[in-house]
Amino acid sequence: MKDKKYSRREFIKQNSMAGFGAAAAMALPGANVLNYMTRQHDTPALLGGKPVVSPDWPDWPRWYPEKDEERLLEVMRSGVWSRSDVVAEFEQKWADTIGTKRSLALVNGTNALQTSLAQLDVGWGDEVIVSPYTFIASVSCILANGAIPVFVDTDPETFQMDPEKIEEKITPRTKAIEPVHIAGLPCDMERIMEISEKHDLVVVEDACQAWLAEINGQKVGTFGHAGCFSFQNSKNLPIGEGGAIVSDDEEFMDRCYSYHNYGNSYGSAEGRVGTKLRMAEYQAAIGLAQLKRLEEETTLRNENAGYLKSRLEEIPGISPYNLYPNVTRAAFHLFPFRYDQEEFKGLSRGKFLQALRAEGVPCSSGYGELNKQPFIENALQSPNFKKFYSEDQLDYEAFLERNACPRNERLCNEEAAWFTQNLFLGSKNDMDLIASAIEKIHKNAENLKG
Ligand SMILES: *Cc1c(COP(=O)(O)O)cnc(C)c1O
Repeated sequence: MKDKKYSRREFIKQNSMAGFGAAAAMALPGANVLNYMTRQHDTPALLGGKPVVSPDWPDWPRWYPEKDEERLLEVMRSGVWSRSDVVAEFEQKWADTIGTKRSLALVNGTNALQTSLAQLDVGWGDEVIVSPYTFIASVSCILANGAIPVFVDTDPETFQMDPEKIEEKITPRTKAIEPVHIAGLPCDMERIMEISEKHDLVVVEDACQAWLAEINGQKVGTFGHAGCFSFQNSKNLPIGEGGAIVSDDEEFMDRCYSYHNYGNSYGSAEGRVGTKLRMAEYQAAIGLAQLKRLEEETTLRNENAGYLKSRLEEIPGISPYNLYPNVTRAAFHLFPFRYDQEEFKGLSRGKFLQALRAEGVPCSSGYGELNKQPFIENALQSPNFKKFYSEDQLDYEAFLERNACPRNERLCNEEAAWFTQNLFLGSKNDMDLIASAIEKIHKNAENLKG
């Protein structure tokens, strides 16, 4: 992989040759020499130059037949495919890994969240405080339980729910806070738990991007009443589909189990309204294989992300994420940073990302404004919501006004950009290449604006 890419040394050599070319061109008649030199050595790939990186980043998900398939084949050959011992083993290992008494494996992260909220009696008539800078499932799980999401603006430095703006959103209807550790970077859970205790609210952590992330050495997902994880294909612990709830509260976990198994009685939990959300044995076998690598891969992501952050902080107009001071480890499902087009001669974020992709670095502009998506308006106007809420409560203009998140709006529409987790499973040299590609764009911003 490495030999197909330019080394950093080569890149610097080429850049300085381009610098020499510029100086030489000034002493020569015409700009031909300069054009020739820059085209060869420093022209942005988007304008026909040579990309900084060849596009062979680490693949995801990973599967090693020799190491990974034995258990899976055992399950397949046994004919026991529906929930049994392998799922129970995966749950025990996940609980041990996160540091909780119990874990319940189920079909996906969305249903982990929806089940947790339902079994903490969050439902019709309630409000749930949530971040607008997240994946749709963080919000659809609230609406699916008949509750109304209330959005707290984003802290642009950390990309997380701004803890200083939570209390002003609390009303007599507020039942829960759902902090989302977006990108796998922990929220300020100390502050959020203080607020929840003061106002007697339940806390369901959306840790669907935050496997093994820690605050003061304690794993996220263990601060609130429940923690929810996703094992979808793109996630750092990929099973294709899958999810888990973790908690120390045995009665709550019994209720979740009951709910996820048609509502049959389980342990201390009487029968209840339920559905079926069970994980299959072969999914758990895949999960056990992936879990073996998670610790090591998380360490590598932390090393590479920390190093890239230090490189990007040197580039004017690029502001990588900040972690809260008590964060001891992040999961880096994403590496978020802010882009300031003023520092790039007015080059738009869209054009910057296009140029970066052309240099061989996959990147994205990230989430849109979730608080303004049509699925919320449609839910509020649905016949069931009209049965449980007054016309005033469902007034969409009032909802938009109350849920305005101006800082998040700027983040989504102008500033944010991401790299995905698989890029951080490469080498330190890969990180240097990312930084070099951005430096190249910075240097050529005027040209790229065209
Ligand atoms: C992936 C994800 C979910 C949903 O998980 P699924 O397993 O896809 O249902 C929820 N919240 C966040 C923040 C996620 O990234």
